[in-house]
Amino acid sequence: MTLSARAHQLAQAFEQPGCPVCRLVAESVHAHIGSLVYEYVNEPATHFAVRDARGFCATHAWHALEQINASALGIALLYEGLVRNLLKDMGEITPKSGRRQVAAAAEALKPRATCPVCAHRAIIEGHLLRSLLDHLDQPAFGARFGASAGLCLPHLRAALESRASAPAKAQLLALQQAIWGRLQGELAEFIRKSDYQFAGEELGSEADSPRRAIASLSGAKDLG
Ligand SMILES: [Zn+2]
Ligand SMILES: [Zn+2]
Repeated sequence: MTLSARAHQLAQAFEQPGCPVCRLVAESVHAHIGSLVYEYVNEPATHFAVRDARGFCATHAWHALEQINASALGIALLYEGLVRNLLKDMGEITPKSGRRQVAAAAEALKPRATCPVCAHRAIIEGHLLRSLLDHLDQPAFGARFGASAGLCLPHLRAALESRASAPAKAQLLALQQAIWGRLQGELAEFIRKSDYQFAGEELGSEADSPRRAIASLSGAKDLG
Protein backbone atom coordinates (compact mmCIF):
# COMPACT_ATOMS: atom_id res chain seq x y z
CA MET A 1 0.00 0.00 0.00
CA THR A 2 1.31 3.46 -0.78
CA LEU A 3 1.83 6.07 1.90
CA SER A 4 0.66 9.66 1.69
CA ALA A 5 3.41 12.26 1.43
CA ARG A 6 2.98 13.07 5.11
CA ALA A 7 3.09 9.43 6.20
CA HIS A 8 6.22 9.02 4.10
CA GLN A 9 7.77 11.99 5.93
CA LEU A 10 6.83 10.36 9.22
CA ALA A 11 8.31 7.02 8.18
CA GLN A 12 11.59 8.75 7.39
CA ALA A 13 11.55 10.54 10.74
CA PHE A 14 11.10 7.14 12.48
CA GLU A 15 14.72 6.39 11.47
CA GLN A 16 15.96 9.53 13.25
CA PRO A 17 16.47 10.02 17.00
CA GLY A 18 13.65 11.42 19.11
CA CYS A 19 9.91 11.86 18.68
CA PRO A 20 9.15 11.95 14.93
CA VAL A 21 6.37 14.51 15.41
CA CYS A 22 8.66 16.84 17.42
CA ARG A 23 11.26 16.54 14.66
CA LEU A 24 8.90 17.28 11.76
CA VAL A 25 7.12 20.05 13.66
CA ALA A 26 10.45 21.72 14.46
CA GLU A 27 11.45 21.56 10.78
CA SER A 28 8.13 22.95 9.65
CA VAL A 29 8.16 25.72 12.26
CA HIS A 30 11.67 26.72 11.26
CA ALA A 31 10.69 26.88 7.58
CA HIS A 32 7.50 28.76 8.42
CA ILE A 33 9.28 31.43 10.45
CA GLY A 34 11.76 31.83 7.62
CA SER A 35 9.00 32.32 5.09
CA LEU A 36 7.14 34.75 7.36
CA VAL A 37 10.21 36.85 7.92
CA TYR A 38 11.56 36.75 4.37
CA GLU A 39 9.28 35.71 1.56
CA TYR A 40 6.10 37.21 2.87
CA VAL A 41 7.52 40.18 4.64
CA ASN A 42 5.73 42.42 2.16
CA GLU A 43 2.51 40.44 2.33
CA PRO A 44 -0.25 42.40 4.10
CA ALA A 45 -1.74 39.15 5.46
CA THR A 46 1.47 38.42 7.38
CA HIS A 47 1.58 41.90 8.78
CA PHE A 48 -2.04 41.64 9.94
CA ALA A 49 -1.50 38.21 11.50
CA VAL A 50 1.57 39.36 13.40
CA ARG A 51 -0.06 42.65 14.32
CA ASP A 52 -3.19 40.94 15.67
CA ALA A 53 -0.98 38.68 17.79
CA ARG A 54 1.06 41.72 18.92
CA GLY A 55 4.19 40.00 17.68
CA PHE A 56 5.33 36.41 17.93
CA CYS A 57 5.36 34.56 21.25
CA ALA A 58 8.75 34.71 23.02
CA THR A 59 9.88 31.29 21.75
CA HIS A 60 9.17 32.09 18.12
CA ALA A 61 10.38 35.69 18.24
CA TRP A 62 13.77 34.59 19.55
CA HIS A 63 13.83 31.73 17.09
CA ALA A 64 13.30 34.26 14.29
CA LEU A 65 16.16 36.40 15.53
CA GLU A 66 18.66 33.72 16.49
CA GLN A 67 18.03 30.81 14.17
CA ILE A 68 16.91 32.36 10.91
CA ASN A 69 20.04 33.48 9.13
CA ALA A 70 20.61 37.21 8.50
CA SER A 71 17.10 38.13 9.54
CA ALA A 72 17.76 41.61 10.92
CA LEU A 73 16.21 43.52 8.01
CA GLY A 74 13.22 41.19 7.76
CA ILE A 75 12.60 41.53 11.48
CA ALA A 76 13.06 45.30 11.30
CA LEU A 77 10.43 45.52 8.54
CA LEU A 78 7.99 43.35 10.46
CA TYR A 79 8.50 44.98 13.83
CA GLU A 80 8.57 48.57 12.59
CA GLY A 81 4.95 48.12 11.51
CA LEU A 82 4.14 46.31 14.71
CA VAL A 83 5.56 48.97 17.02
CA ARG A 84 4.01 51.75 14.91
CA ASN A 85 0.61 50.12 15.33
CA LEU A 86 1.08 49.57 19.04
CA LEU A 87 1.81 53.27 19.43
CA LYS A 88 -1.24 54.24 17.37
CA ASP A 89 -3.56 51.85 19.22
CA MET A 90 -2.40 53.06 22.64
CA GLY A 91 -3.78 56.49 21.81
CA GLU A 92 -2.49 59.79 23.05
CA ILE A 93 -1.38 59.02 26.58
CA THR A 94 0.14 61.67 28.80
CA PRO A 95 1.13 61.50 32.48
CA LYS A 96 -2.20 63.27 33.16
CA SER A 97 -4.36 60.76 31.23
CA GLY A 98 -7.36 59.58 33.21
CA ARG A 99 -8.37 56.09 34.27
CA ARG A 100 -10.56 55.58 31.23
CA GLN A 101 -7.73 56.34 28.80
CA VAL A 102 -5.36 54.06 30.70
CA ALA A 103 -7.95 51.28 30.60
CA ALA A 104 -8.50 51.85 26.87
CA ALA A 105 -4.75 51.68 26.23
CA ALA A 106 -4.45 48.50 28.31
CA GLU A 107 -7.26 46.97 26.28
CA ALA A 108 -5.67 48.02 23.00
CA LEU A 109 -2.39 46.32 23.92
CA LYS A 110 -4.02 42.92 24.31
CA PRO A 111 -3.40 40.40 21.55
CA ARG A 112 -6.38 39.65 19.32
CA ALA A 113 -4.91 36.44 17.93
CA THR A 114 -2.40 33.77 18.93
CA CYS A 115 1.16 33.85 17.65
CA PRO A 116 0.92 32.94 13.94
CA VAL A 117 3.75 30.42 14.29
CA CYS A 118 2.06 28.74 17.27
CA ALA A 119 -1.10 28.55 15.15
CA HIS A 120 0.90 26.98 12.31
CA ARG A 121 2.52 24.53 14.72
CA ALA A 122 -0.84 23.37 16.06
CA ILE A 123 -2.12 22.73 12.53
CA ILE A 124 0.99 20.76 11.55
CA GLU A 125 0.88 18.72 14.78
CA GLY A 126 -2.75 17.84 14.08
CA HIS A 127 -1.98 16.75 10.50
CA LEU A 128 1.01 14.65 11.55
CA LEU A 129 -0.79 12.90 14.41
CA ARG A 130 -3.79 12.17 12.21
CA SER A 131 -1.56 10.74 9.52
CA LEU A 132 0.30 8.60 12.06
CA LEU A 133 -2.92 7.20 13.49
CA ASP A 134 -4.37 6.62 10.02
CA HIS A 135 -1.43 4.51 8.86
CA LEU A 136 -0.54 2.44 11.94
CA ASP A 137 -2.68 -0.47 10.74
CA GLN A 138 -0.36 -0.88 7.76
CA PRO A 139 2.06 -3.54 9.02
CA ALA A 140 5.26 -2.11 7.51
CA PHE A 141 4.45 1.40 8.76
CA GLY A 142 3.47 0.12 12.20
CA ALA A 143 6.66 -1.91 12.45
CA ARG A 144 8.79 1.10 11.50
CA PHE A 145 7.05 3.17 14.15
CA GLY A 146 7.55 0.38 16.68
CA ALA A 147 11.29 0.45 16.00
CA SER A 148 11.46 4.24 16.38
CA ALA A 149 11.93 6.34 19.52
CA GLY A 150 8.13 6.64 19.61
CA LEU A 151 6.08 9.71 20.41
CA CYS A 152 7.04 11.99 23.25
CA LEU A 153 4.50 12.02 26.07
CA PRO A 154 2.98 15.41 25.09
CA HIS A 155 2.41 14.19 21.51
CA LEU A 156 1.07 10.85 22.70
CA ARG A 157 -1.45 12.68 24.86
CA ALA A 158 -2.39 14.92 21.92
CA ALA A 159 -2.88 11.83 19.72
CA LEU A 160 -5.16 10.27 22.31
CA GLU A 161 -7.19 13.47 22.55
CA SER A 162 -7.69 13.57 18.77
CA ARG A 163 -10.80 12.29 17.03
CA ALA A 164 -9.12 9.14 15.72
CA SER A 165 -10.82 5.76 16.19
CA ALA A 166 -10.38 3.74 19.38
CA PRO A 167 -8.65 0.84 17.53
CA ALA A 168 -6.10 3.25 16.03
CA LYS A 169 -5.43 4.71 19.47
CA ALA A 170 -5.12 1.23 21.00
CA GLN A 171 -2.60 0.28 18.29
CA LEU A 172 -0.59 3.42 19.02
CA LEU A 173 -0.66 2.75 22.77
CA ALA A 174 0.46 -0.86 22.36
CA LEU A 175 3.42 0.14 20.17
CA GLN A 176 4.34 3.01 22.47
CA GLN A 177 4.19 0.75 25.49
CA ALA A 178 6.73 -1.59 23.90
CA ILE A 179 8.97 1.40 23.07
CA TRP A 180 8.85 2.70 26.64
CA GLY A 181 9.42 -0.82 27.93
CA ARG A 182 12.72 -0.89 26.03
CA LEU A 183 13.62 2.60 27.29
CA GLN A 184 12.95 1.62 30.87
CA GLY A 185 15.16 -1.46 30.43
CA GLU A 186 17.98 0.71 29.05
CA LEU A 187 17.70 3.15 31.97
CA ALA A 188 17.83 0.23 34.42
CA GLU A 189 20.90 -1.09 32.61
CA PHE A 190 22.51 2.36 32.73
CA ILE A 191 21.91 2.49 36.49
CA ARG A 192 23.27 -1.05 36.95
CA LYS A 193 26.48 -0.25 35.06
CA SER A 194 26.93 2.95 37.07
CA ASP A 195 27.59 0.77 40.10
CA TYR A 196 31.31 0.58 40.82
CA GLN A 197 31.18 -3.21 40.77
CA PHE A 198 30.29 -3.09 37.09
CA ALA A 199 32.40 -0.08 36.18
CA GLY A 200 34.52 -2.26 33.90
CA GLU A 201 31.61 -3.06 31.61
CA GLU A 202 31.35 -1.07 28.41
CA LEU A 203 28.21 0.97 27.96
CA GLY A 204 25.99 -0.15 25.09
CA SER A 205 22.92 1.45 23.56
CA GLU A 206 21.87 2.57 27.05
CA ALA A 207 24.69 5.15 27.13
CA ASP A 208 22.47 8.05 26.06
CA SER A 209 19.24 6.69 27.57
CA PRO A 210 18.96 9.44 30.24
CA ARG A 211 18.94 12.09 27.54
CA ARG A 212 16.50 10.10 25.41
CA ALA A 213 14.27 9.67 28.46
CA ILE A 214 14.03 13.43 28.90
CA ALA A 215 13.12 13.87 25.22
CA SER A 216 10.61 11.05 25.46
CA LEU A 217 8.76 12.40 28.48
CA SER A 218 9.04 16.14 27.80
CA GLY A 219 9.42 16.48 24.00
CA ALA A 220 12.29 17.81 21.94
CA LYS A 221 14.38 20.63 23.32
CA ASP A 222 13.85 22.83 20.28
CA LEU A 223 10.32 21.97 19.38
CA GLY A 224 9.96 25.62 18.39
ZN1 LIG B 1 6.94 15.00 20.31
ZN1 LIG C 1 4.62 31.09 18.90
